[in-house]
Amino acid sequence: MASNAYRNGAHRGNSSMKLDRQLPPANLKSSSFKSRVPPSQSPGSALRRSSPASFASKGNDGVPGRVRVAVRLRPRNVEELAADADFADCVELLPELKRLKLRKNNWDSDTYEFDEVLTEFASQKRVYEVVAKPVVESVLDGYNGTVMAYGQTGTGKTFTLGRLGEEDTSDRGIMVRSMEDIFADISPETDSVSVSYLQLYMEAIQDLLDPANDNIPIVEDPKTGDVSVPGATLVEIRDQQSFMELLRIGEAHRIAANTKLNTESSRSHAILMVHVKRSVMGREDIISSENGDPPHLAKPFKSLVRKSKLVVVDLAGSERIHKSGSEGHMLEEAKAINLSLSALGKCINALAENSPHVPVRDSKLTRLLKDSFGGTARTSLIVTIGPSPRHRGETASTILFGQRAMKVENMLRIKEEFDYKSLSRRLEVQLDKLIAENERQQKAFEDEVERINVEAQNRISEVERSFADALEKERLKCQMDYMESVKQLEEKLVFNQQKHDCDGFTDDKCILQVPRFSVSEEVVEIRKLLENETNLRKVAEEEVKNLRSQLGQHPPLAAGGDAEMLKLRKILEDEARQKKKLEEEIIILRSQLLQLSFEADQMKMCLDRGGTGNAFAGLDSSMSPVRHSQLKDLGNGQKASIATLFEQVGLQKILTLLESEDANVRIHAVKVVANLAAEEANQKKIVEAGGLSSLLMLLRSFEDETVRRVAAGAIANLAMNEANQELIMTQGGISLLSMTAADAEDPQTLRMVAGAIANLCGNDKLQMKLRSEGGIKALLGIVRCGHPDVLSQVARGIANFAKCESRCSTQGTKSGRSLLIDEGVLPWIVQNANSEAPPIRRHIELALCHLAQHEVNARDMISGGALWELVRISHDCSREDIKSLARRTLSSSPAFRSEMRRLRMEFD
Ligand code: ADP
Ligand code: MG
Repeated sequence: MASNAYRNGAHRGNSSMKLDRQLPPANLKSSSFKSRVPPSQSPGSALRRSSPASFASKGNDGVPGRVRVAVRLRPRNVEELAADADFADCVELLPELKRLKLRKNNWDSDTYEFDEVLTEFASQKRVYEVVAKPVVESVLDGYNGTVMAYGQTGTGKTFTLGRLGEEDTSDRGIMVRSMEDIFADISPETDSVSVSYLQLYMEAIQDLLDPANDNIPIVEDPKTGDVSVPGATLVEIRDQQSFMELLRIGEAHRIAANTKLNTESSRSHAILMVHVKRSVMGREDIISSENGDPPHLAKPFKSLVRKSKLVVVDLAGSERIHKSGSEGHMLEEAKAINLSLSALGKCINALAENSPHVPVRDSKLTRLLKDSFGGTARTSLIVTIGPSPRHRGETASTILFGQRAMKVENMLRIKEEFDYKSLSRRLEVQLDKLIAENERQQKAFEDEVERINVEAQNRISEVERSFADALEKERLKCQMDYMESVKQLEEKLVFNQQKHDCDGFTDDKCILQVPRFSVSEEVVEIRKLLENETNLRKVAEEEVKNLRSQLGQHPPLAAGGDAEMLKLRKILEDEARQKKKLEEEIIILRSQLLQLSFEADQMKMCLDRGGTGNAFAGLDSSMSPVRHSQLKDLGNGQKASIATLFEQVGLQKILTLLESEDANVRIHAVKVVANLAAEEANQKKIVEAGGLSSLLMLLRSFEDETVRRVAAGAIANLAMNEANQELIMTQGGISLLSMTAADAEDPQTLRMVAGAIANLCGNDKLQMKLRSEGGIKALLGIVRCGHPDVLSQVARGIANFAKCESRCSTQGTKSGRSLLIDEGVLPWIVQNANSEAPPIRRHIELALCHLAQHEVNARDMISGGALWELVRISHDCSREDIKSLARRTLSSSPAFRSEMRRLRMEFD
């Protein structure tokens, strides 16, 4: 219908779509692009150049032709505001650093760098200027250019590219603004602009300007390789109004075509092609000769026609189409969409690496974009993401697509901060050193023991020998003495007898009697002496025997060797202790190493997907159903790595280390467990292996602040999972967390504890128990630490709790006043409702709105001053959604209304 009015017969047919290859700019080599020949041929173009700070100026950073990648975050929509309000944001943008942080859990996030990071507040004008304007300028200079939007359905691709901005001109998207700039730059007398608008759905090209034309072939010139779509309507346009009309018609046809095909626009790619033909004077030729082209091409002062093309592609939604449920038509569709997107990914990778071969033939989309992938073409990619944590997976894969499109070195530079691979290598080296050191010490220790043993043996035998010698000497001496005495006695006896014989006759009576008496006395005496000597000898011999047997029993203690031995024994024990510690350390290092190599594997997988050579397979796997099994393998690979970790180190072993006597070991172990707990996939295993109980036990028994902080963090992670929340409660988790909260001083510990309790607060079933076990009181106690991060977790917990209560009240499973009010939380809420820190304020404002929704709370809220806060929120909350929620709540509550009437407050 209306499209006929725009069809311009003169521009249909092959010739109109073909680029004139003899003309210079399209033939420029990339080197000329690097040095940016002053594109001064177009009148007015010098005035229009992008500011030096823009996206385009990076083209001069020595990376010619690199795909420029910007990321744009869509603002929250109403549903997201309602559903995700209590969750921490999934992404954090650092636009000044051109970085984006993707949150993994309570305290961990990955950082990525882009050419431009556009926040939810970025205006359409700014987005156009940084993403598309440089491309449009280069199209006006005669180069081909492409702007593409990639992202999950609903993240703002069409908003960014195709918005007409009829109601609000500041909403105008890239297509409209590009054309405005083109019209402003060309001269109507000599230049022309014509447009085709196509849709690519399941590898079939449909004409959005003529819906009857629904399977247009792509024609390739066998000689030049040029690609054209001669069957497509090509409309020459002369002013912006006609272009807008054309876009409207295209959009209407797109909707109609998709309704007919029973699909959604998110499944098809929309492609706007703008052909610009300009007449330029011979100054172009300078460029030709600069490029080393033969001088005969230089035809000074002759007018040339320069053709270039701007392609704007609103890509199909990047969300994965799950195999389940995709059957027949759906499955075919999934394959076709993935085919185009994955082929596009390959081409973008090839461009990112300056690869000489760009595989454009793999899909219709890339064949259509062939000219855009040339050495001089400029390509910008805007990846769009949504803020909802529920789509974290899709957001992450979108970001990775964008990262792959960035130049590889660029990504590596950023990745240095998180270079798990080299960290893993370093740890491996360290581990090897420790193993070697351990082995050396072990050997030295064994040698030392051996040496000491030999030495001790030698000493013992020496002592034994000298003892035996001494004994023998003593024995000989005794024997000699004995013989000597016997000899003396015998001599004395002989002498006495002789004396007696001489004196016997003179005085028989007296003389005989006296000597006889004295001699016998002497003999008795000597006999006694002899007996004594014999006894002494016996005793000595007995003693020697005793000593000998003692010596046999305690050889090492003998002869003064005992002090030495004690010392050695002590060294021995120390060494054994040291060895045990080293072994424990090795276990921990090994588990860390496994954890890291698991992460490194994942990282490697990501890198490989964007890596060199034939590594595009990885990209395929995330896109193409043909490789769907590989996608699964990613999951299985992850599981396999964890299985290896558990197998080699043993989760049980790590959990045992939680109870180690060595504080260092305990800290290491709890960190490993906390790291594992950060991955959702491990959480179940940890809980099944009793890890939750061990972690709770750490809170119960150890004084160490670090251990408790890390344990609380791990518990907070486990508490994200609903299945674990009840378990935590039944194992007395709340009182332990409350106890920890009461003791701890460190804000980090308090943040983790508050985070854990806040997660539990979001469970409908646990409300009563949470309150009766002191969870709310604990949260209220934590606010003594004024740190904003801690307060933000407390506020999150309160908002979660209020939201659950509100839900239960609406469902009729709860009646009566809010437990939060019963527990005396209201004054703190009122005090902090206007907090300086946006997250705290946001949570509290939401909590107030939830509380206000139920009339039973109204009286307390009024007397507690919360009404004023609600009124303030309804007037000047920066968040429109919260503002309108507060308004709705105020106007629907009879108690609030009558109080406001009483106070003569206006409410519109
Ligand atoms: P997609 O094309 O990626 O599927 P849309 O462009 O259709 O997503 O956007 C989805 C919804 O979000 C639309 O209602 C759109 O108006 C809105 N939206 C997207 N981006 C923005 C933005 N930057 N500001 C305001 N609203 C936006
Ligand atoms: Mg769209």
